Amino acid sequence: MDAIISLCKRRGFAFQSSEIYGGLGGFFDYGPLGCALKKNIKDFWWREMVQLRENVVGLDSSVIGGSKMWEASGHVAGFSDPMVDCRESGMRYRADQLFFSPVAISGKTICHLSILDSPQMEEDALAMARSLLKKRGESAAPDKLRLRPIAEATAEELRQIPSPATGTIGALTAPRAFNLMFRTSIGAVSDASATAYLRPETAQGIFVNFQNVLASSRLKLPFGIGQIGKAFRNEITPRNFLFRMREFEQMELEYFIDPDADWCRIHGEWVESRLAWYRSIGIGDKFLGKEVHAQEKLAHYARACTDITFRYPFGVCELEGIAARGDFDLRCHSAASGKALDYFDGDKHFMPHVIEPSAGVDRVFLAVLCAAYGEDEIGGERRTLLRLDPKIAPVKVAVLPLLKNRNDLLQLSREIFLKLRRRWNAVWDSSGAIGRRYRRMDEIGTPLAVTVDFESLENGSVTMRFRDSAEQVRLSIGELESAIGNLVDWK
Ligand code: ATP
Repeated sequence: MDAIISLCKRRGFAFQSSEIYGGLGGFFDYGPLGCALKKNIKDFWWREMVQLRENVVGLDSSVIGGSKMWEASGHVAGFSDPMVDCRESGMRYRADQLFFSPVAISGKTICHLSILDSPQMEEDALAMARSLLKKRGESAAPDKLRLRPIAEATAEELRQIPSPATGTIGALTAPRAFNLMFRTSIGAVSDASATAYLRPETAQGIFVNFQNVLASSRLKLPFGIGQIGKAFRNEITPRNFLFRMREFEQMELEYFIDPDADWCRIHGEWVESRLAWYRSIGIGDKFLGKEVHAQEKLAHYARACTDITFRYPFGVCELEGIAARGDFDLRCHSAASGKALDYFDGDKHFMPHVIEPSAGVDRVFLAVLCAAYGEDEIGGERRTLLRLDPKIAPVKVAVLPLLKNRNDLLQLSREIFLKLRRRWNAVWDSSGAIGRRYRRMDEIGTPLAVTVDFESLENGSVTMRFRDSAEQVRLSIGELESAIGNLVDWK
């Protein structure tokens, strides 16, 4: 993770927000290369999920919504995470990420505390608890050690648990609900009617526009409405770089279906289709996984939910959630607004059910970087490279004059560059030895480099170098555009 974070800062992918003022926790700014990569990811999602599907349309709804809407959706009352405070340091923790392992030793309970971002870390936490006991000269039978969520701790056990911030035993409070929504107020009046919220998900904007879109677009079930946009959650513990942020972006699709349709099959098809999308942007199967939520852990409105997971350096975590939400959302908004949010099919009218593939742009961005990051040796020199799929690479091609002190090389390479950049994000770079320039491009994932050399001046040919293999081919300047197009354009 450190190598990726450092690459992001060094080469301008992502920076801590307000860094010069000490940084703002949970907020990040995307630099020149970062915003290009992020835009390519979003554009490719939009193409595959909206543009290429005849029965899917797009939407761009407001970020701020009035309190009526968020009360109806259940977010004001229930969009919260359980939180635990350390009384001594004021630090706050997600209670569902705190686990403890109580062991009774000579009649006394000793509790070791672990913070777990993902269930896969359980083994590591248990190993730590074991080694802690060993250090104290205690020998608890290994099968006696098990992790329990802090929410299950009795008052007595809570008094035995050390604070992760200060180590003080008994400094943690019991868990309580913490609402994750950012509240604001609209206009100059500051009474309750002015209260509004920054959306914690883009989905509700789709549900409240269901009738508008239906009436204006002549869609027939099944159909989908897709949206990409910012979402805001006042996360208790933002962490792991771009993985858990307070301001992030989502790519969501609400796919409306007939309540009598085989939702289970349709849900399964979406899971497979989304996995195929991740593969198509260069994320290999060794990184991807599926996690089916157990029935008893489902949100009350969901019938099924499958997460697509990614093996990040810090653990296997959720990349995207694909939920079957029934008609919960439309029903709530219809009841609260008094507006019929029905679908008419001949003499039948009903509320459609919905399948929701919901992905986080920033988590995909981080996954793409983690999957592409590599270090190897080319011609006896070490290099760092991003093996990004050309479809989403921020820069598609670099144009490089072999030497910088030759006007004829500079001029011809500029001509080629100015032509290519009309079609693709291209860069022209003349500074430093050619090998160093190649490596600078490898490090940001540029799939192709075109070098203009003396032979170019003689016979109008250039070399094209491929990032991953470092191999080069020679081709004529006239062939260049179609050769690059074949390699980097979306098919
Ligand atoms: P988690 O359990 O990790 O908090 P979630 O299940 O609450 O996530 P959803 O409400 O299903 O997340 O949101 C859909 C998607 O939005 C997630 O799969 C994730 O990619 C993204 N997402 C959610 N919260 C954040 C966040 N704080 N930072 C970045 N992306 C997020």
